[in-house]
This record gives sequence, C-alpha cells and structure tokens, in this order.
Amino acid sequence: MSEIANIESRRQFLKVAAGTATAAVVVAMLPRAARASGLPHLSPDNAAAQALGYVDNTKLVNKGKFPSHTDAQRCGNCAFCSAKAGAKWGPCQLFPGNDVNTDGWCSAHKMRA
Ligand code: SF4
Repeated sequence: MSEIANIESRRQFLKVAAGTATAAVVVAMLPRAARASGLPHLSPDNAAAQALGYVDNTKLVNKGKFPSHTDAQRCGNCAFCSAKAGAKWGPCQLFPGNDVNTDGWCSAHKMRA
C-alpha cells in the first residue's frame, strides 16, 4: 500500500471513530425516558399526576370533574405515550421520570392520530 493510500485510510478510520464517539455521547445525553421504559410507575398520588387528574385505570376517572372524558381514552392511545405495543406501562412525555399505565388517563390526553 502506498504512503498516500495509508494516510487516506487512517483519515477514514479517524472520521468513523470520531462519528461513533459523537453518537455515543449524544445517546448518553438523552433523557432516560427517551431511551427506554422501565421507569418507576407513576402514582396517582404524585403531585404532578394529581394536578392532571391522572388515574392508572381510565374507568376510575371522576366523570363529574372531567365531563369530556370517555372510557375509550387511555394512555395507550395517547399521542404523548410511547409504550411498546402490548406493554402495560410505558413512557409519557408529560411525566419524564415515570412510566404510565397504558390503561391510565390524565386530563392532557390527546388521541393519537
Ligand atoms: S398525557 Fe397521555 S399518556 Fe400521559 S398520562 Fe396523560 S393520558 Fe396518559
């Protein structure tokens, strides 16, 4: 291999190595909720959860307090939830430190398109 080809292959190696290191740093900086679920389950007693009327079963919603709620609305079909298909719990953008119950509900529910 010529000296020029050798230098070129070293350059390519360094570019790939730098790109891999950058990707690893970016992934490490993502919030935990953006990477995977398995977070502590959100309790309806949590202050932020209470503020949004969160319950871990949509059938338990206080219909007097939330008259527009329907039993068809649940975290599992909410645009803010990224639980895997069939999962019982998963991440919600509004509660980044916790997983929500896919049968749950809160007043910020937005039906997924
Ligand atoms: S925003 Fe959606 S996914 Fe999050 S708790 Fe409320 S209903 Fe559930």
